[in-house]
Amino acid sequence: MTTKPLVALLSGAGISTDSGIPDYRGPAGLWRQDPEAEKLVTHEHYMGDPDVRRRSWQMRRRTGALRPEPNAAHRAVVELERSGVPVRVLTQNVDGLHQRAGMPARKVLELHGSARHVVCVKCGAKGAMEDALARIDAGEDDPPCLECGGVLRPATVMFGEPLDPSVLAEAAAIAKACTLFFAVGSSLQVHPAAGLAQVAAEHGARLVVVNAEPTPYDGIADEVVREPIGTALPRLLRELA
Ligand code: ZN
Repeated sequence: MTTKPLVALLSGAGISTDSGIPDYRGPAGLWRQDPEAEKLVTHEHYMGDPDVRRRSWQMRRRTGALRPEPNAAHRAVVELERSGVPVRVLTQNVDGLHQRAGMPARKVLELHGSARHVVCVKCGAKGAMEDALARIDAGEDDPPCLECGGVLRPATVMFGEPLDPSVLAEAAAIAKACTLFFAVGSSLQVHPAAGLAQVAAEHGARLVVVNAEPTPYDGIADEVVREPIGTALPRLLRELA
């Protein structure tokens, strides 16, 4: 009889690659390589320039048309959770695929927010991205908040914005409390992801890095796995269930 691990799983862009979502915001991500595209997701430009907002909505409409589905790695996390192992997901992704795969929303902490929702910058009203994009389809180019007329934006953390301190604090608490920390598909080069792996390791968690490329934390990891996430993660998690 072994004690069940308390699992924290940090996921980055690499876990969603098999779902057809490219790495947009990582250090080598598409947005970083294209200054015009980066403007569309940079707070200062988004708020200050209606034309940036119009292009941003069009960009979301185009990329949203891909309708990404969860993949084997997302499903493996759900299976682990359903097997009774306590698991919390900390994700750098805004795609909502952990929840779509079946993870209870309360067990997924979205460090960079969610691209599946929109929020009004004036009154804070929240809505579904799907509804906002339907308004774009219907001919609006910069749909305002239906409650107060304020600027609507995706409920994501844009470049130039701080992360939500309460989300960060909760993520740190999970990293401290877990006994097994998986870093999956993250380059671990960006705050706070990198810091969370460190915190987990410092507090005695076993650190497992699953990533195609080397990360700065491979040296302190208990296990480094280079094989594709879509096969590696289901195998690693099945061993725990
Ligand atoms: Zn509003």
